[in-house]
Amino acid sequence: MKQTLKEEVASRRTFAIISHPDAGKTTITEQLLLFGGAIRQAGTVKGKKSGKFAKSDWMEIEKQRGISVTSSVMQFDYSGKRINILDTPGHEDFSEDTYRTLMAVDSAVMVIDSAKGIEPQTKKLFKVCRMRGIPIFTFINKLDRDGREPLDLIDELEEVLEIDAYPMNWPIGMGKGLLGLYDLYNNRVEVHRPEINGLNGESYAPLDEDGEIIGDHPLKQYSLYTQALEDAQLLSEAGNEFSREKIQAGELTPVFFGSALTNFGVQTFLDTYLEFAPGPSAHETKNEEQISPSEEKFSGFVFKIQANMDPAHRDRIAFVRICSGKFERGIDVTLARTSKKMRLSNSTQFMAETRETVEHAVAGDIIGLYDTGNFQIGDTIYENNLKIEFEDLPQFTPELFMKVSAKNVMKQKSFHKGVQQLVQEGAIQLYKTYHTEDYIIGAVGQLQFEVFQHRMLGEYNSEIIMSPMGHKIARWIDVDDLDENMSSSRNILAKDRFGNPLFLFENEFAMRWFSDKYPDVELKTLL
Ligand code: GDP
Repeated sequence: MKQTLKEEVASRRTFAIISHPDAGKTTITEQLLLFGGAIRQAGTVKGKKSGKFAKSDWMEIEKQRGISVTSSVMQFDYSGKRINILDTPGHEDFSEDTYRTLMAVDSAVMVIDSAKGIEPQTKKLFKVCRMRGIPIFTFINKLDRDGREPLDLIDELEEVLEIDAYPMNWPIGMGKGLLGLYDLYNNRVEVHRPEINGLNGESYAPLDEDGEIIGDHPLKQYSLYTQALEDAQLLSEAGNEFSREKIQAGELTPVFFGSALTNFGVQTFLDTYLEFAPGPSAHETKNEEQISPSEEKFSGFVFKIQANMDPAHRDRIAFVRICSGKFERGIDVTLARTSKKMRLSNSTQFMAETRETVEHAVAGDIIGLYDTGNFQIGDTIYENNLKIEFEDLPQFTPELFMKVSAKNVMKQKSFHKGVQQLVQEGAIQLYKTYHTEDYIIGAVGQLQFEVFQHRMLGEYNSEIIMSPMGHKIARWIDVDDLDENMSSSRNILAKDRFGNPLFLFENEFAMRWFSDKYPDVELKTLL
């Protein structure tokens, strides 16, 4: 039976996994893809550790370093839903793309290492999700290892991230002593290693109305079981109340414990996630209109541009989040920024193992469009006379800075052209020192500099010199407050590409010193 557009859109679940490197993002992604039948064996998503390259590592620089520079998209069907997972690169490959990916999803899954708790990168990415008000689902991973006390982890989560948490299940033991998950939501115990711990090898043990396992069950002899029962009781009396509305508003995060590596608790997580995660929602335009995802006419925005996928062809791929209607290959659209009309005939879809031409996609899906330089990050495209422009994507406060200049002074022209274009594209942010107008580039991750250098040479034939300035804290000030005497070597005065003044502080200490000295000057961040 053919689905209506509304039904098709309603089946979409588009999310990103946020985590600190090594928390288990890749492992859990693989388990999810296995459930959906999108891959056949674990270890396919990231070949970094085995020396094999995943298919998503297109760029030359990616090959050299064995990493995935830019977020890729994985799609699979499961339980009547079409799921799109957007990868958010971490480690040294952390970049503004990682943040921007979060602009294209409807919910996020936060993976936490149970031995480590909340780590810096998780915190940064979480903030962006929070700013968007999207639902955040938490998976506390590596339960098969000895980690921190569950109550302690929940406390930290609530305190550091300032969000209410609601445990959906509770560990019975951990590490070698892991016996199961007391599944409060599904009213059962999920048994770890049921061949040893289960009754007749059963994976699930149902609970009675008092929350006790029904009947005579081997788990009941363990004090860890009684302990989990007590903890759970305590939580239901003293913890947060469950609220679907709060989850959907991103104010309450449901917390799941489990182990991605041993595939324990992952399917329960996925099933429950699908019950609560929202489908595509309306997107706001610059005129403060809302575009409903089931609006018949196609629209979408570019949230990422990946360049040089094939060094021989210099092609780029613009990643588009579809916000309304449906995409059919060959569709005619208008690029809002320039009013240019174009036909979208060359499009791809992304899978963990293959890239294939996409013929049909609807709101919630992500498509990749081959681009010869038409698109910029944040661009809106729409069908016919829809005539809309989505809100600008936010800019993120860079943390790393480099002075940059052309190696060959005779080649200033290509240097400037390259810098302008790459800045416009959103690959890097540009600043100038206040008077001398020296170029300073800023990034949220080290890899952005390497990609920048690589592309300047490859695409603009411009060899550059970069001198690291290291970590700086960038803070903008109002023009009215500007007094150039406030500048020093520990707080460098600069301007952004729109001419707005900012200071680059050496560290927190320098910033505090400044604020003490100039209490009336307000210091502002981007995001
Ligand atoms: P990513 O950097 O977040 O993508 O993390 P990976 O998925 O690559 O995992 C990092 C390391 O942790 C790998 O060695 C994984 O095998 C391991 N790992 C992931 N999940 C688990 C888990 O549930 N239990 C244990 N013991 N190790 C895990």
